[in-house]
Amino acid sequence: MAGTAIHGGLVWRVGTLVERRRETATAHSLVLDVPDWPGHDAGQHVDVRLTAPDGYSAVRSYSIASAAQEKRLELTIEELADGEVSPYLAETAAPGDPLEIRGPIGGWFVWRPAQTEPVQLIAGGSGIVPLMAMIRTRAQAKSAAPFRLLYSVRSPQAISYANELEQRVHDDANLGVTFAYTRSVPEGWARAPQRIDATAIMEAAFAPALRPSCYVCGPTPFVEAAANLLIAAGHDADRIKTERFGPTAGGS
Ligand SMILES: Cc1cc2nc3c(=O)[nH]c(=O)nc-3n(C[C@H](O)[C@H](O)[C@H](O)COP(=O)(O)OP(=O)(O)OC[C@H]3O[C@@H](n4cnc5c(N)ncnc54)[C@H](O)[C@@H]3O)c2cc1C
Repeated sequence: MAGTAIHGGLVWRVGTLVERRRETATAHSLVLDVPDWPGHDAGQHVDVRLTAPDGYSAVRSYSIASAAQEKRLELTIEELADGEVSPYLAETAAPGDPLEIRGPIGGWFVWRPAQTEPVQLIAGGSGIVPLMAMIRTRAQAKSAAPFRLLYSVRSPQAISYANELEQRVHDDANLGVTFAYTRSVPEGWARAPQRIDATAIMEAAFAPALRPSCYVCGPTPFVEAAANLLIAAGHDADRIKTERFGPTAGGS
């Protein structure tokens, strides 16, 4: 797999959008058929290239949401209102459209079914995408590795994959999901809206003594804050892997 990851990352392939699904008011999942897709590991991402009729092109990175065992590629795009690429992908791209894809990319921020240790996932907003690939890959592999997800979102309406997460938790005693809300909370929720803090980590995450592998993904400031909280709680820095969703490459 490592070999295909490296070689696959160099080639642009033309995929076809076969399905789009609304996740939230601002996020859509796109399912793609990509010919000769070399396969991927959970946690990897692809580059997507859009090219205008005048030849101008823009490239952005998107994490893969689909399980490593899936032949089709699923991406979940959060629309940034003033963005160049995400509004097209999230709102305009339609089934049947071609889409240029390069990947899979990244060999560090990955979870493989051979791993049996507890896994702590921490997502901020669209940072859930590669962590969802890990949850799906674990389920397809019938892995018993204990997984916990702490998912920070603005509001209950901003949760991607909400039904699927609920179902998976219902079906699997070794999967735990805790939500943290930063702007508005569900009715009856015990805490006021707030960013994740030491208490949230203490209540929701595996104890450091269990030596979980930690995967943290989201906007850069979120990732830095969450990784610092894990370290302050006693987790080893070398067991914390991070993926930052900062702005990526521009146009040409
Ligand atoms: C490894 C990696 C994986 C990623 N995976 C995903 C994913 O699965 N889903 C997803 O929706 N996005 C993901 N992103 C972010 C994505 O690559 C783009 O940055 C995002 O879609 C914005 O692109 P745009 O062209 O619409 O905005 P741009 O035209 O690039 O930017 C518009 C404005 O938004 C700001 N901005 C750009 N990117 C972000 C951001 N991520 N957060 C906040 N503000 C931003 C810019 O500074 C600018 O002010 C990932 C980024 C990386 C590096």
